[in-house]
Amino acid sequence: MTVRVRFAPSPTGKMHIGNLRNAFFDYFYARATGGKFLLRIEDTDQGRSTEGSIQNIYDTLRWLGLSWDEGPDVGGPFGPYVQSERNAVYGDYAAKLVSAGHAYRCYCSPERLEAVRKEQTEKKLPVIGYDRHCRDLTETQRAEYDEQGLKPVIRLRIPLESVTVFRDEILGDIEKANIDINPDPVLLKSDGFPTYHLANVIDDHLMEITHVIRSQEWLSSGPIHLHLYQAFGWEPPKYYHPPLILGKDGHKLAKRHGSTTLDEFREKGYLPEAIVNYVTLLGWSYDDTREFFSREEFEKLFTLDKLSKSSAVFDYKKLDWFNGQYMRKLEPADLRDRLVPFMQQAGLFASPPTEAERKTLLDIVPLIRERLTLLSDCASWTSFFFEDVSIADPAELVPKKGTPEKTLETLTALNTSLAGFEGKSEEELESDFKALAEKLGVKLGDLLMPLRVALTGTTKSPPLMGSMLILGKDKVEARLSAAIALLGEKV
Ligand code: GLU
Ligand code: ZN
Repeated sequence: MTVRVRFAPSPTGKMHIGNLRNAFFDYFYARATGGKFLLRIEDTDQGRSTEGSIQNIYDTLRWLGLSWDEGPDVGGPFGPYVQSERNAVYGDYAAKLVSAGHAYRCYCSPERLEAVRKEQTEKKLPVIGYDRHCRDLTETQRAEYDEQGLKPVIRLRIPLESVTVFRDEILGDIEKANIDINPDPVLLKSDGFPTYHLANVIDDHLMEITHVIRSQEWLSSGPIHLHLYQAFGWEPPKYYHPPLILGKDGHKLAKRHGSTTLDEFREKGYLPEAIVNYVTLLGWSYDDTREFFSREEFEKLFTLDKLSKSSAVFDYKKLDWFNGQYMRKLEPADLRDRLVPFMQQAGLFASPPTEAERKTLLDIVPLIRERLTLLSDCASWTSFFFEDVSIADPAELVPKKGTPEKTLETLTALNTSLAGFEGKSEEELESDFKALAEKLGVKLGDLLMPLRVALTGTTKSPPLMGSMLILGKDKVEARLSAAIALLGEKV
């Protein structure tokens, strides 16, 4: 048996962590078993589906390095892979169920259903929903309604007696009394469009899906789907419903916990490597210790038996940690290339970037990589290399225990001693600074601090000697002179 799994998102918004995690599980399972990974767009909810959401699904999956063997844009033997292009198929199958007596036409108006619901709610009945009103209409009654021009929906006839045992491969057997299942769910709407249940089951069957991996919010659909498979006389796939991803407070991960869409993570400067690694570990583990996995490693190592029964909590700090780690693993030129768009966005680089900008950034990478959590952090660490620094208040140049006079003296001495610094190594520069500090009778820190502010405009910068060497003689001299002039006005 060849494994065939599908990721079947509804294009009703941007890809978020919850559905991405399922995509990873599906994809890695297919790759690890040499099976096929399908992308199917479930746009049965036409009112909420958008073209932009479909594009967002493609873009997000591709950004993360996922590819699909069959899907709307790549085609395949079981297409079309967009449900709205398959309406005729669903209508035919629904008609078959009606003729076999497994489904029936229901003529209830939305108003009637609403009134039933209201009454049930007021009476606090255990099951709220459709009251099976049209389940046993006679042929004559149906004909009358048809004649009146009422457009029926088609509902699944779920048996009233007995129990359905739904097998989930993570959770085990789940028993549900048939009478407690959502009463006779709609399969085909009155406009001829299928509902999720009908389209999902037909497509999984026709597309020869062997394993359905989808998060636990779909678990309650399981018994309904099983009844549909039985009604059609088809063999159901194996089901896996991994638990939901939660926020720190134990509730389903949502906006109020932080970013949830992949667009947000991408814009903030998370690396796809970190997202792939961290998100796949939300509900899956290789063993108790190993934390780092590349996409290629998951593609080899992923197994369904390691899916967890308990919910995973999304820890933003942990993802940040992963991101920092991956940033440090990248080749300098690779990291530089990924930083460039963020430098452009911050207005520090031209678009396209100049060769000089790219070259300088590559020199800077070793100085900043340990300090970065997100790609977007780079602009604030590096802006002084690319634009003039401005010191608003000369007091910023003065160390805590220092005086403007002494600082002016220090900077002036530095200015003289720095002539010819460019040929030196960082170590040589450092010992020069130490000697100078001693000579001036100031602490090394009180010499470096004004120099740092003069050159970078801030007290928090990448390593100073390395930065000076990249800035170069002209900029160093100009900035030192400007600082001296500024301080001179005050003294
Ligand atoms: N269209 C459903 C969703 O948006 C798919 C559920 C399933 O995988 O069966 O998640
Ligand atoms: Zn009805």
